[in-house]
Amino acid sequence: MNIILLGPPGAGKGTQARILVKERSMIQLSTGDMLRDAKASGSEMGKKVAAIMDAGELVTDEIVIGLIAEKLAGDNGGGFIFDGFPRTLAQADALGDLLKEHGTTLGAVVEMRVDDDELVSRITARSTCGDCGEGYNDISKPIPASGKCTNCGGTEFKRRADDNEESLRTRLMEYYKKTSPLIGYYYAKGDLRSVNGLGEITEVAGEISTALE
Ligand code: AMP
Repeated sequence: MNIILLGPPGAGKGTQARILVKERSMIQLSTGDMLRDAKASGSEMGKKVAAIMDAGELVTDEIVIGLIAEKLAGDNGGGFIFDGFPRTLAQADALGDLLKEHGTTLGAVVEMRVDDDELVSRITARSTCGDCGEGYNDISKPIPASGKCTNCGGTEFKRRADDNEESLRTRLMEYYKKTSPLIGYYYAKGDLRSVNGLGEITEVAGEISTALE
């Protein structure tokens, strides 16, 4: 089953996508990760999007639709998880067309609801393992005193360039202006399931499992 995880920055989409990958052999397609990889590789496209991403604005629909189109041609494992895509109505329409071209459909759109104060405190406290991407939070899940990642033993941890209060404000504004209309769009299509994204990671994972049944 192909699903979309929909929610504002910091809602926990990446964390929950990683759980679904482990538990259901699904394939996570995160346009944010793809764009960060392009930025790190120094490719022409990466250079083009770097400043836009650091400022917290959305890159063009054309670029992200192109990235997703490439991935849909590959293996879909236990289904695709779209994480951070679509973020505009044009992207949502394009995704519908692409899935149709590949003879498949969307199984569900899971909206993860979290209040804005919680988002700000989550994002300004978060970091990830540089090797495996395991997520940490200075308050709720600090990096172990050993300095080693609990998942892979890695010792390098990183913070995202756009995880600061100023970029976050822009990212939230972009979300409310351009992405939140997708909630109504998928509700009207009958695909929307909403979960409370505020609980413990395992509680939210349980809610998502129930929503996917
Ligand atoms: P994320 O990791 O999903 O929070 O994405 C990080 C940044 O990448 C966003 O703030 C945007 O600049 C860019 N980005 C990721 N996905 C998209 C998308 N679907 N549409 C436009 N920009 C995106």
